[in-house]
Amino acid sequence: MLELPIEKALGVSQSRLALLKKLKIETIEDLICYYPRGYEDRSQLREIASLKNGETALIKGTVAEEPALSRIRKNLCMIKVKVFDDSGMMQITFFNQKFVVSSLKKGETYLFYGKAKVDYRSISMSSPVFEPENSNRHMGHIIPLYSLTKGLSQKVFTNIMAGVVGTVDEDLEETLPTYLKERLHLCDRVFAFHNIHFPRSFEALEAAKQRLVFEELLFLQLGQLSMNRLSQASHGIRLTNFKIVERLNEMLPFELTNAQKRVIREICADFRDGKQLNRLIQGDVGSGKTIVACAIMLVAANNGYQSALMAPTEILAVQHYDGLKGYFEAFGFVSDILTGSTPKKRKKEILERLKNNEIQILFGTHAILEDDVEFAKFALCITDEQHRFGVKQRNSLYSKGENPHTLVMTATPIPRTLALIMYSDLDVSVIDELPPNRQKVETYCVSEGSRTRIDAFLSRELKDGSQAYIVCPLVEESETMTEQLKNVTDYTRQLKEKFPDFRMELLHGKMKSKDKDEIMMRFKNHEVDVLVSTTVIEVGVNVPNATLMIVENAERFGLAQLHQLRGRVGRGKKKSYCILVSSATARNTRERLKVLCQTNDGFQISEQDLRQRGPGDFFGTDQSGFVDLKIANLIGDVKVLELASRTAKKILAEDPELSDRKNYLLKKNVKKLFLKNGVKVFN
Ligand code: ADP
Ligand code: MG
Repeated sequence: MLELPIEKALGVSQSRLALLKKLKIETIEDLICYYPRGYEDRSQLREIASLKNGETALIKGTVAEEPALSRIRKNLCMIKVKVFDDSGMMQITFFNQKFVVSSLKKGETYLFYGKAKVDYRSISMSSPVFEPENSNRHMGHIIPLYSLTKGLSQKVFTNIMAGVVGTVDEDLEETLPTYLKERLHLCDRVFAFHNIHFPRSFEALEAAKQRLVFEELLFLQLGQLSMNRLSQASHGIRLTNFKIVERLNEMLPFELTNAQKRVIREICADFRDGKQLNRLIQGDVGSGKTIVACAIMLVAANNGYQSALMAPTEILAVQHYDGLKGYFEAFGFVSDILTGSTPKKRKKEILERLKNNEIQILFGTHAILEDDVEFAKFALCITDEQHRFGVKQRNSLYSKGENPHTLVMTATPIPRTLALIMYSDLDVSVIDELPPNRQKVETYCVSEGSRTRIDAFLSRELKDGSQAYIVCPLVEESETMTEQLKNVTDYTRQLKEKFPDFRMELLHGKMKSKDKDEIMMRFKNHEVDVLVSTTVIEVGVNVPNATLMIVENAERFGLAQLHQLRGRVGRGKKKSYCILVSSATARNTRERLKVLCQTNDGFQISEQDLRQRGPGDFFGTDQSGFVDLKIANLIGDVKVLELASRTAKKILAEDPELSDRKNYLLKKNVKKLFLKNGVKVFN
C-alpha cells in the first residue's frame, strides 16, 4: 500500500496529482513522509468578549442574521455577518468570498479562526476560516501547515492527508527495534505519523517529532559509519622519529604557531601509538594548515613511506606543490604532482616511479584517484578543503594502501552538528590561532551608489603597489536571469577601460586549467594588478601582496563562501579590506551581509550560513549528497543529533554488521534508505 503510486491510491483530479508530483510526492509513502513545516493552534476555544486586539484565535459563534452582500466596486464585493456567543457579539467581514453567503446560515453555529480586531466600539474579524461546529476537521485541533505549491491550498492538502493517515496504520511497519524505543522512551511509528500530521496535543506532537527526528538521524549516522568503516581499523602503520619536524621548524621563515605545533603533536601521538589516524583538521582561512600537512608528510617520508595530498583544484594543487617541494628536497625526498592536465608521457613516468617508491610525496587533484595510480608504500593520504570531496572519493584514495592514515583539512569551519554528520568517524583537531602577522580584514557592505568611492579606493590601493581581487557571480552574460548580475567577461572589459593604467586579467572556471594557472602565476608574481574572477579563487590561493577584495553582487554568495573569499587578502603585512557590493534591498539580505562586517570568526559565520541556507546550499548542490533531511533540522535538533550519533556508535561497537537479530530492522531500513541514494551500506 505504501509503495502505491498516488494516482492509483488517491481519488483526486489529474491537476491535483500534478501538483502533488511537483512536491515530489509519487507514492503514499512520500505523502505521509511529507511533514508539516509548522502548526497552528486551533485547539483552544475562546469567548468573543475575551479577545484581544491583534490576536489570532478560535471562537464558536452563532450566525445572528443572513449574511449581507454588498458590491464595493467592480471585482470587489464584501459580505458582512454578525455572530454571537454567550459572551458577546462580533462582526465578521469577508471580501470576494461569495460562497460565504450560502454557507453561513442564520441560527447555525460555526467555528471561526482568524485575527481579531478589537477597539472600544466593537470586536471584529476579517476573512476568518470557518466550518460548522462538530465537523471537527480544520478546527478544534492543532492544525498542520505544509509547504505547498501554487494552486494547492492547505485545506485541500490537509484533506488529502487526513484521508490517508490513519488508513495506512496496518502498513506502517515499525522501523526501530523495541529495545531502542524502550531505552530511549520513543513512541511507536504509527503514533508518530498520526501526531506529526494531526497532533492530539502539543505533548503528542513533541513525542512524534522526537521519534521521527531521532530515527532519521540515527539511520543517517549508521549508514555513514558503515560507509566509513573502511577506515575504522584499530591498528595503523606505526611511525616514529619526529625530530624531522623540529628540523623543518628551523628551516621555516616563520615560527609555527602554538596551535600548529599542538595539532602536529596530536597527530604524531597517534603515529607513535600505532593508532589508525582518522583526523579532521579544521582551521580558518590562513591559519596555516598546509605547513602542518608538510610536517606530517615529512614524518611519513622519514619512515620510508609515501604520502599523497589531494586538492580540489589544479591551482591549489600546484600552489601546494610549489610551496612545499623545496622543503622535501632539502631533506632529500622527492615530490611530484599529478593533475588532469599532466601530459601522458609525464604521467606514465610518475606512475612508474610511484610504484618503485621513487616518489615519496604526490600532490594532485582528483587525478590521483584513478585506478592506475598505485603506490609502493602508501601510508598517509591528506585531502585539502575536504567539503568539496564526497565520502566516496575519500574512501577511494584510502583504498590505495593498506590502512593508510587519513587526514582531512578544511578551511570551512563546519558547525559542530554538520561535522558530526559529515565526519562522524573522525577525530577533530582545530587550529584555532592565526599566525601573528595576520590582521583583521576590514569589511564594508556598500551599494552601487558608492561606486565612485569604490573605484577611488581601488585606484589608491593599486597605486600603493598592492593588488586586488574582484569577484563576480557569473562567467558571462546570462540570458535566463532577469537580475542585473555582473559577469567577469564584460566587467573585465569595462574595468580595463576605466583603469587603463592597471593590468587586469580575468579568471574563471570554464577556462583551461593551463590558462588559469598561467594567470594565477602572473598574479602571484605581480605581473597582474587586478584579478577579476568567479569563485575559482575561493579556496587556498595565497598572494600576500593582495590587500583588497571586492565582491560584486555579494548577495549571491553564501556567508561561508564570502568569508573564504575574504581570506584571500590580509595575508601579508599590509592592511587589507573587503568590500561587499550589493544593491539588494531585502532587509534580511543586508543583515546577512552585515554578519561579515561584524565578525571574523569563521565558526560563527558558518553557523549563520547553515541556519540561513540549509545544509544543501552550505555544501553546494553536488556536495550535499545524502544529507537530505526530511524532518531533522541540523541547527535546532543538536541534542537529538548527538544522541543519535552516540547511539549509532554504541550499536555498531557491539554489532558492526547489524547482524544481530535485534538489529534486523535497523539494517533493513538503513540499507533501503541509502540504496535510494545509490549507496550500498552493510553487507
Ligand atoms: P590555510 O590554512 O588557509 O590553508 P596556508 O597554509 O595557505 O593557510 O597558510 C597561509 C599563509 O600563512 C602561507 O603563506 C603560509 O606560509 C603562512 N604561514 C603558515 N604558518 C605560519 C606561521 N606560523 N607564521 C607565519 N606565517 C605562516
Ligand atoms: Mg589551504
